[in-house]
Amino acid sequence: GPQKVDRQVDSVCPFCGVGCLVTYQVRDEKIISVKGREGPANEGRLCVKGRFGMDYIHSPDRITQPLIRKEGVAKDLELMDGHTDWREVFREATWQEALDLATQPLNALRHQHGPKSLAGFGSAKGSNEEAYLFQKLVRTGFGSNNVDHCTRLCHASSVAALLEGVGSGAVSNPVRDVEHSDLIIVIGSNPTANHPVAATWMKNAAQRGTRIVLADPRITDIGRHAWRTLPFKADTDVALLNAMLHVIVTENLCDESFLRDRADNVAELKAHVQDYTPEAMSAVCGIPADTIREVARAYASAKAAMILWGMGVSQHVHGTDNVRCLIALASITGQIGRPGTGLHPLRGQNNVQGASDAGLIPMMYPNYQRVSDKSAHDWFEKFWDTKLDDQPGYTVVEIMNKALAPDTDPHKVRGMYIMGENPAMSDPDLNHARHALASLQHLVVQDIFLTETAWLADVLLPASAWPEKTGTVSNTDRTVQMGRQAVLPPGDAKPDLWIIQQIAERMGLNWLYAGEHDGVAEVYEEMRQAMAPTIGGIDWARLNAGSVTYPCVNAEDPGQPIVFHDHFPTKDGRVWLVPAELISAAERPDADYPFVLITGRQLEHWHTGSMTRRATVLDALEPAATASMCGADLRRLGLQAGQTVRVASRRGAIELQLRCDEGTPVGTVFVPFAYVEAAANELTHAALDPFGKIPEFKYCAVQIQAL
Ligand code: SF4
Repeated sequence: GPQKVDRQVDSVCPFCGVGCLVTYQVRDEKIISVKGREGPANEGRLCVKGRFGMDYIHSPDRITQPLIRKEGVAKDLELMDGHTDWREVFREATWQEALDLATQPLNALRHQHGPKSLAGFGSAKGSNEEAYLFQKLVRTGFGSNNVDHCTRLCHASSVAALLEGVGSGAVSNPVRDVEHSDLIIVIGSNPTANHPVAATWMKNAAQRGTRIVLADPRITDIGRHAWRTLPFKADTDVALLNAMLHVIVTENLCDESFLRDRADNVAELKAHVQDYTPEAMSAVCGIPADTIREVARAYASAKAAMILWGMGVSQHVHGTDNVRCLIALASITGQIGRPGTGLHPLRGQNNVQGASDAGLIPMMYPNYQRVSDKSAHDWFEKFWDTKLDDQPGYTVVEIMNKALAPDTDPHKVRGMYIMGENPAMSDPDLNHARHALASLQHLVVQDIFLTETAWLADVLLPASAWPEKTGTVSNTDRTVQMGRQAVLPPGDAKPDLWIIQQIAERMGLNWLYAGEHDGVAEVYEEMRQAMAPTIGGIDWARLNAGSVTYPCVNAEDPGQPIVFHDHFPTKDGRVWLVPAELISAAERPDADYPFVLITGRQLEHWHTGSMTRRATVLDALEPAATASMCGADLRRLGLQAGQTVRVASRRGAIELQLRCDEGTPVGTVFVPFAYVEAAANELTHAALDPFGKIPEFKYCAVQIQAL
């Protein structure tokens, strides 16, 4: 029969950006099961992570007491191997002592070396309120704009292209709008693994006749539901997309009235794509010219067609160019601004949209107001009643480089505060990133586990897991939703919002958020004022009653799931089209490193694995790191599935088990990045897209050896 529960608490799934609503079933102060709830993104559906992944919060690995690095214990990179007892490295402390020891060195570094010697990484796994307060702390307390988070590793290039082109970095249409599409292009994305409930809406649409085009070097599960699959060669997105643009332009399939009324730089784009014939580009991208023509015609002539993309598009040195091409495709065909059309960069983390909106980025205040824009700068100086730096701060990878800068560099980063992020696993070229973290004079880490990053901390502040606190998150569809505290944090762990305020107080900031749950509603209301054109109509009471999609400007506004009906939020209301050239990956295969490495995720594990590898069911489903290759490559190398191999790049080497996956292209190996014992990012390359500053996680050269 049904299990008896003490209470049921409504919240949002803490894993991916789809934003499924859940109800926790609580018994004896433990979450014993999770039910899907009727929400706009999920209608009661959940994937395996949302359904079975929640017991990470009850893991015995939780940090339950503030910890201080013991006197004289060096920041040894080997300590994070999982075999070290934390007591060898840290001692327990009271909150009072830990908070003082966390903050005093930050104050001293600022005093001695200036505001730019400090930096903060906030989190896309926390609430909007935490993100907002964290960036406010860095800008007003640390005194610089050196604040960033994992959006830099995710859709930074998409956001750069979208802000430039359409004036807004968010999606134009929600995922469920695929119901109204007669064709969808899924490019550089494996939605079944990474946005599983979103993938179910795509599959349902396909059953009803929507044609799915999967354009991806890896043919993943969604390919089984596709009308056409385009397994283009990794790194050749622009070749494929420019060839499609060429077909649409030369065969007069453009929506000329849309272009006349709503687009600029059209002639330049049309002239640029003339040279990119399907025949010429077929040789580059490996897709037959006829297929390129067929798909381009189908997209242009569809009544409503939508493009959805993921990290396969964004994580390249030409990630911004890739997205410029997608914007051009949607614009020249008029496939935007109506139901079933538009551009949807599928957001990864549960709150990466909201954390970015809230200003957890170095070049923008809340609501994407540029720190370099005088009126925005002046507005926030008044709003926060303090002096603010008007120079953009450094981004994630730049901050790591600045940590290793010579002592003479006036912008050398010496002290950091990291809340809920794990750059010692998630950054590219991990040896570099880990050395950078270890070299800091002072590192404060706030997390729920002793993550790989936390092992390098001077002070470790035990935080709360998502089901232990109340706050809001914004999903990939721009829908703001409330999560509620279901259980108390274990031991002496505290809500992140409380910890941020304690640090702020010790930096001399006079904040007063006195209400329930550490003043979460007051923080939200302050953020709402700073973001009036976006969420002005969504007050706390409204969120308490249900989900609302922004833009929502006043109490009567029901929220706008579909945007760009009649104008774009650019200066002149028109879309700006940007031609893109072919640019090669930063590191290509050669005789020594003949294989291409593609990193990514898998269904059962979440990002760096700190949560899901501590979730019993998920860990049992995928207990070990694997490298996937196709059968032809295995035979060619005389290797077998199940065998352990060494995968090495110029930057590092890992050992893991081979898996045969016919969806992996010839000459390529796919490795998920969730496994510390075989951390894929030890191999990756830190080359950056010049616009989004996103690293090239999706392409570098490796060699493979049998062990
Ligand atoms: Fe959670 Fe995403 Fe799965 Fe929904 S699809 S249950 S939000 S992980």
